[in-house]
Amino acid sequence: MRILLKLSGEALAGDKKTGFDEPTVRKVAKQVQEITQSGTQVGIVIGGGNFWRGRTSESIDRVKADQIGMLATIMNCIYVSEIFRSEGMNTAILTPFECGSFTKLFSKDRAQKYFSKNMVVFFAGGTGHPYFSTDTGVVLRAVEVEADMILLAKAIDGVYDSDPAVNPNAKRYDKITIDDVVAQNLQVVDMTASILARDNHMPMRVFALQEEGSIVKAVSGNFNGTTVEA
Ligand code: UDP
Repeated sequence: MRILLKLSGEALAGDKKTGFDEPTVRKVAKQVQEITQSGTQVGIVIGGGNFWRGRTSESIDRVKADQIGMLATIMNCIYVSEIFRSEGMNTAILTPFECGSFTKLFSKDRAQKYFSKNMVVFFAGGTGHPYFSTDTGVVLRAVEVEADMILLAKAIDGVYDSDPAVNPNAKRYDKITIDDVVAQNLQVVDMTASILARDNHMPMRVFALQEEGSIVKAVSGNFNGTTVEA
């Protein structure tokens, strides 16, 4: 089995909301190690919100702001990759554009090669294009490398029919189809990513990163969260 795990940038920052929180990342590392040791191949996509978000910068050109955002995702991948290595895993970082010797250029063949060597493969730099997000990046890479599913580790423990922070009666779905996610405009991933997942039948599992062992449980299928069927 091959899965792609998406972490938001904020998730890396723990309570600080910015920069890195090493204990949080080590917990992720230990779970990913357990998953890879059981023979599942793992790819990782990380957001950049702990450093920068292109769309919220008001004073500079959006294309340039998004370039900074993409670079933030690479910093995050380099950091997390190093923590993974210190826990004993082999890792590789692929980007859609050249970053000198910092990363390797993404190609499907290269990703396959690393996966077959049991390496954890980081897909950094998003799609390589402005006006996209790492949500779209993770769906695109999952489809390209023929992953079985995407695991979305979030601050919230699944997909709700409305925002539980606003509506105390919000109902969580155990299962929902990606068609319903699109039709109801639910915020699982952004709409561009939802449509890509729908058109290419890429299922997702949504759960809370903070819950003990949640990534391992999500891989097993017996987890506290929402399955998005595609
Ligand atoms: N980004 C981009 N293209 C991509 C992926 C990311 O331009 O394919 C930029 C964009 O500026 C984004 C930032 O990188 O705001 C961080 O990515 P993330 O997905 O965390 O962004 P968010 O959805 O939180 O804005």
